Amino acid sequence: MWNVPTTWLCRAHLLGEHLEMHMFAGALRQGKDLTGYIRGGLVELDAIEDRHKELVFEMQRRGYKHGTPLREVKLILPHGRDALLFLGNVDMWKNVYELMNRCATCRERIFELSGQ
Ligand SMILES: [Zn+2]
Ligand SMILES: [Zn+2]
Repeated sequence: MWNVPTTWLCRAHLLGEHLEMHMFAGALRQGKDLTGYIRGGLVELDAIEDRHKELVFEMQRRGYKHGTPLREVKLILPHGRDALLFLGNVDMWKNVYELMNRCATCRERIFELSGQ
């Protein structure tokens, strides 16, 4: 989950993150443990559905197809736990930096669209 403005993502990273949202939602429905992703700052459980909507909106704006709706994810929150620790917290600017290092196309888009 990059959590950066969707317009900043290249085609591969936009489609990749979209696929990730489906995988995270599927994992949650199957009751899989996502603790490693949460600790690594790679997912915000409560943001998966909204993020999926944002990604699909941008995909459709660019004329990419979206065939698979995301089935609703029910989150069952445990008692007595710090919500942020449980749900996860993604550092958007850390990801912007990582994308700029990793991907020339994202880097170009970020320079162009972020006004930096
Ligand atoms: Zn989808
Ligand atoms: Zn990219």
